[in-house]
Amino acid sequence: MKTVIMAGGKGTRISQLFPDIPKPLIPVRDKNGVEKSVLEWELLSLRDQGYSEVLLTVSHMAEKIQSYFGDGSKMGMKIEYFVEDEPLGNAGALFKIREWLGSDPFLLLNADAVFDVDFNRMVDFHKSHSDALVTLFTHPNSHPYDSGLIIAEDDHSVSAWLTKEDNRPQWYKNRVNAGLHVVDPALLDMTIQRMEFNPEDIGGIDPKTQKVIKIDLDRQLLKPLCGLHRMYAYDSPEYVKDMGTPERYEQVCKDYFAGVVSAKNLSNSQKAIFIDRDGTINKYVGFLNHIEDFELLPGVAEAIRKINESGFLAVVITNQPVVARGEVSVAELNEIHDKMETLLGQEGAYLDGIYYCPHHPDKGFEGEVIELKIDCDCRKPKPGLILRAAQDLNIDLTRSWMVGDGKNDVTAGKKAGCHTALLKRESLGQEITADYLLEAVDAILKW
Ligand SMILES: [Zn+2]
Repeated sequence: MKTVIMAGGKGTRISQLFPDIPKPLIPVRDKNGVEKSVLEWELLSLRDQGYSEVLLTVSHMAEKIQSYFGDGSKMGMKIEYFVEDEPLGNAGALFKIREWLGSDPFLLLNADAVFDVDFNRMVDFHKSHSDALVTLFTHPNSHPYDSGLIIAEDDHSVSAWLTKEDNRPQWYKNRVNAGLHVVDPALLDMTIQRMEFNPEDIGGIDPKTQKVIKIDLDRQLLKPLCGLHRMYAYDSPEYVKDMGTPERYEQVCKDYFAGVVSAKNLSNSQKAIFIDRDGTINKYVGFLNHIEDFELLPGVAEAIRKINESGFLAVVITNQPVVARGEVSVAELNEIHDKMETLLGQEGAYLDGIYYCPHHPDKGFEGEVIELKIDCDCRKPKPGLILRAAQDLNIDLTRSWMVGDGKNDVTAGKKAGCHTALLKRESLGQEITADYLLEAVDAILKW
């Protein structure tokens, strides 16, 4: 598969630190002290995954980037360039290189982000949706309240793309576009038809408006696909961060040096802290049927923020028999979980996954959902939800923990092969006993 990397950005804020270096050539050191430019680390990771044919679109200090990487042969790659010397908008170049792209889907990556991603996994996801023209790499971040949001259906098709200025629902899933895409080139041909422009004219003056014709990726190519089931969100906890400011650059350097950037690539096994919901994250109210009753417990956001910064994944594992009982629909449960993510996001914390069991074994109650009244494999104390998360996110259970306030949590954790922590002063064979999630997380991180 071919890869296009948009490396023309000026990076004005970060350039205070490196006035003579284009942003993609800014150096970082890995945990072994080896120093390479950010883009070189990314290219090497792409090469190692089989993506060795790359085209870089460059403009700001183009010649420095070209002389640094050359034709790529030193890295065992084939690197070509499209030098943009007229303003084309960030997607204009795609129309100029339309022939080079051919007819198969390609990776389109924004070099403004620092990333280390298992792209084969993302491409498999793209291929699994036969109607997909685009797959967006999406992830939760620590500041969803001032980020653009991607809203998707249960099948992951993108239904809305909200900028940070747009009105948003009160409660929303923490799902942010990261600037990494799989794109079917048919999208370019469809866009030409839809917008009725001549690709030759991009970068030239529009005779009607007298303005330069530029093409913007998000606004003109991608957003029009919302609601059409042609664009899908690929949720991943892998490392993708902007390093546009000196502070963010410092964080990226720390993360590289700590080995966090490559460790989070899903081709490497992950470690997770699995967290029960009711009584652990939110105040216990018996069966939680009303969204108003959902309230975070004290210290929970701080605890999850610490998990986020630690290299562990934060994954919720919860029994929700209220669905089988017919008291809460799946849509209502999703909204409750959106509230959980919104409240956590307001405090800089995020979840890497939410797994729930909607089942209940006992039949014969009024209003119940018969098909969910089964003896399933996922209701805690069974380990099914943990095993499913482990499968989805390549989690090594022996390096992971289950934390909860009940016997079900400890038993499920042990059956799955995890360490366990109990938020109750009782002995059920757990390794850590604590009163609150924060206390348990502090103990796990010191373990
Ligand atoms: Zn179940």
